[in-house]
Amino acid sequence: MKILKHIAILSLALLLVGCGSGPRATAKMYTENLWHGKISEAKKYATEQTGKLIDVASSMIAMPIDPDFRFNFIEEIIDGNKATVTYKKPGGETDNVNLVKIDNKWKVHLVDDENMPQTALQKKNECINNMRRIEISKDMYALETNCTNGWAFASDEEAFTAFVGKEFLKDYCYCPTSTSTEEKGTLARAVADYKVNPIGSNVSCKSRITGKNAHILK
Ligand SMILES: [Zn+2]
Repeated sequence: MKILKHIAILSLALLLVGCGSGPRATAKMYTENLWHGKISEAKKYATEQTGKLIDVASSMIAMPIDPDFRFNFIEEIIDGNKATVTYKKPGGETDNVNLVKIDNKWKVHLVDDENMPQTALQKKNECINNMRRIEISKDMYALETNCTNGWAFASDEEAFTAFVGKEFLKDYCYCPTSTSTEEKGTLARAVADYKVNPIGSNVSCKSRITGKNAHILK
C-alpha cells in the first residue's frame, strides 16, 4: 500500500510538471542536448527561428561540447506566453534561456531578448546598478560642496533634483520590482523607490530588502 501511494504521488508529480513540457523542462532538454553536441535533438525544443540561428552558428563556429554537462536549475519566471529560465553554467556563471508558448508547447526562443520577462536576479542586478549610480552622484555632490560623512539632504526630492540637475545622474532611476504607480523616469518615482540616506551611508531600495534576491548595495 505504501509503495502504491508512493507511485501515485510520483505520477502526480510528473503530471504537475507536465511530463516535461513546462519552461523549466524544455530549457533543460534544449540546453543539455546542445552541450552534449546533439544539435538536431536540441532544435526539437526550440522555435523554428531559433533552430535556424543554431544552424548558422554551428556552421560558423565550433559549438562548445561538454558531455558531462548537467542542467543546474536556478529559477523560472513565467509571464503569460513568455518565460525565462535561469541556470548555472559549468563555470559557475548564470545564464538565461528565453521561451515562448506556441500551440500550448513551450519552446526555446533566442530572439527578441528585450521583450522577455526579467528574472528576479536580473531585476536585483539592475536595481543595484542604479544604487551604485546614485551613490557615485552622492560622492560627487559631497566633493563639490565639501559635505562630510553624516551630512544629509533635507529630502530625497532635493537630493535627486540636485543629482540630475548637476548631471551627476543621467536620469531618475527606478527599481524594476517597485509597486509604485508613479511614472518610470520621474522624480516622484525615484523618490518612491529609493532612500538616498546621508553621505557615508549607502543608498537603499524600498522595494525588495529581504530574501535571496534582496536589493542591497554593499
Ligand atoms: Zn530595488
